[in-house]
Amino acid sequence: MDVKPYISYINNKMHIENVSLDTIAEQVETPFYCYSHSAIKASYTAYTTAFNQLDTMICYAVKANSNQAILKTLANLGSGADVVSGGEIRRALSAGIPASKIVFSGVAKTKDEIAFALDQGIFQFNVESEPELLLISQLATQTNKLAAISIRINPNVCAKTHAKITTGKSENKFGIPITNARQVYQYAASLPGIKVQGVDVHIGSQLTDLQPFREAFAKLADFIAMLTMDGHDISVIDIGGGLGIGYGENEIEPDKNEYASIVKSCLGHLNCKIIMEPGRSIVGNAGVLVSSVVYVKKGDERQFLIIDAGMNDLIRPSMYDAYHQILPVDNTEQEMSVYDVVGPVCETGDTFTKNRELPTAKTDDLITILSCGAYGSVMSSHYNTRLNAPEIMVNDAQFSVIKPRLSYEELIAQETIPDWLSQ
Ligand SMILES: *Cc1c(COP(=O)(O)O)cnc(C)c1O
Repeated sequence: MDVKPYISYINNKMHIENVSLDTIAEQVETPFYCYSHSAIKASYTAYTTAFNQLDTMICYAVKANSNQAILKTLANLGSGADVVSGGEIRRALSAGIPASKIVFSGVAKTKDEIAFALDQGIFQFNVESEPELLLISQLATQTNKLAAISIRINPNVCAKTHAKITTGKSENKFGIPITNARQVYQYAASLPGIKVQGVDVHIGSQLTDLQPFREAFAKLADFIAMLTMDGHDISVIDIGGGLGIGYGENEIEPDKNEYASIVKSCLGHLNCKIIMEPGRSIVGNAGVLVSSVVYVKKGDERQFLIIDAGMNDLIRPSMYDAYHQILPVDNTEQEMSVYDVVGPVCETGDTFTKNRELPTAKTDDLITILSCGAYGSVMSSHYNTRLNAPEIMVNDAQFSVIKPRLSYEELIAQETIPDWLSQ
């Protein structure tokens, strides 16, 4: 029985590809993240196939999951990277993604980060403000470099997604309002060390309706026509990321072919290179978080399934009210119970779900939280001095630890007591 692509029950045990999750649990202990190498490759390839009629460059949004093994998987397929910090540039380079395929986004690029990106020779900066343009110009001229830029336009469309991940409305901090972007392009063209090559948008994340994309891309096409009239040579259109995934059971995902045809019909006639920055839609459904039941606690009004994964491992439910499917690793239990599934962290917000009907569970049973490949491990912390959940990658019948669990000693050794305090 298929649960998600490359995740299925074989002989009543949940498998990632051809490895049973209980086999991994025996060796690495819970909680742990587990990713399917083949699922990542398949979602990347779905993009290249859908866009095969356009000149495109896929720049995977590193922030969704920046593990080196994941970046290497994508580098091997020819992917570029969309990065939002100097740290992510280093991660991408270190996994073998060439600087010529890196685009640098983000509202607060620092002097050091810009200088490093210029030095490496990245493909382009996605600029979000006038002061940033000026700083890039100054740093580029000082080192005799030409910085290729796109300006991130805020098209003022409603992405109809969660408020914390919508970015394309005029009240958001992102981009330059489309209403005064024309002047900013004039300003950019007047600066030394700057090569104006493109236009960029990113309207939000987890968009399951394609209409907002259509609206944004249509506005973008009109805007580019105006820039061309103004004498700018626009050869690159960066359409951002944001395509949603199915979190719910049998939830229909937005279709990549339909997305591609919208891009083609709105922007194809402009003969530009199209850059995409998908994150979640590449890795989201390729990963799970596996956890064990610590206690089943009966309250007055509800039953709690207390598990050994917490909000420090996966913050999406408490931060975005996100829904994640939860399934047992062993699916032989027929009886159902209603649970609040909670973690060990001393916060009421450490709740994965409330009133969920799940197979009746007992201490030490393994459960899987699905759709955790994106914005899972990367957003984790050591809050409550909890060790990190290690990350595992499965490829067919083999699995490898791609990030180990630190020991308590390693964790505590990161901190120092000043001499004057230990006297
Ligand atoms: C977060 C982000 C992305 C990726 O978004 P997904 O929803 O994961 O596809 C792409 N571009 C920019 C600028 C981002 O901030």
